[in-house]
Amino acid sequence: MHNILFSADYKREFEGIFDTHKLYTDPTIYINITSKMHAADAPEGMENWFVMINVPHNNGEDWEALRNKARKSIVSKINRLMKTNIEESIIAEETWTPVGIESMTSSFKGALYGNASNNKMAAFLRHANFSSEIEQLYFCGGSVHPGGGIPLALLSGKIVADLILNENR
Ligand SMILES: Cc1cc2nc3c(=O)[nH]c(=O)nc-3n(C[C@H](O)[C@H](O)[C@H](O)COP(=O)(O)OP(=O)(O)OC[C@H]3O[C@@H](n4cnc5c(N)ncnc54)[C@H](O)[C@@H]3O)c2cc1C
Repeated sequence: MHNILFSADYKREFEGIFDTHKLYTDPTIYINITSKMHAADAPEGMENWFVMINVPHNNGEDWEALRNKARKSIVSKINRLMKTNIEESIIAEETWTPVGIESMTSSFKGALYGNASNNKMAAFLRHANFSSEIEQLYFCGGSVHPGGGIPLALLSGKIVADLILNENR
């Protein structure tokens, strides 16, 4: 159900994302096919592929052009590694870029995980779990304190629950 096709140069891929804000030509590709576990997630005899690569946040780039470039790299890597012609099997397709993620979810610059957590101060720079301007407005989840990923997102919810409980004691 979960598959990862790693980049031959993981370090270079991430230098591109964080330093030069460019898409790497050999991206690490995550493929999730939930219909392998829950057949009802796809029409009979078919599969639903969720395909994701790492990209920089939205900095006003031409995401339509970047999307097309990324799609080509992804298709050619899948074809090469899985010895197939994946495009023949695609009957419906939808893409999300940071621009779409930003407009659909209001996440800052379309970042999935909030502020980048790649330096020692990152934990202190994340958005707090409460608003200092609006009383009784709280924030929890992967894009605020303490960080992204299921365990930290759950911890974030617990911090907010404790804040609310303490306030009402
Ligand atoms: C492909 C992928 C693989 C991952 N793998 C892992 C992993 O292996 N381990 C790990 O720890 N973490 C993993 N993560 C990260 C983890 O999933 C997230 O950090 C975590 O889910 C964040 O939780 P959240 O509650 O903040 O947001 P979400 O889980 O995204 O929940 C937000 C919810 O709000 C809903 N919503 C959005 N807008 C609105 C609105 N306007 N009105 C009402 N509802 C709305 C959404 O539909 C969604 O259900 C992965 C993420 C991705 C994308």
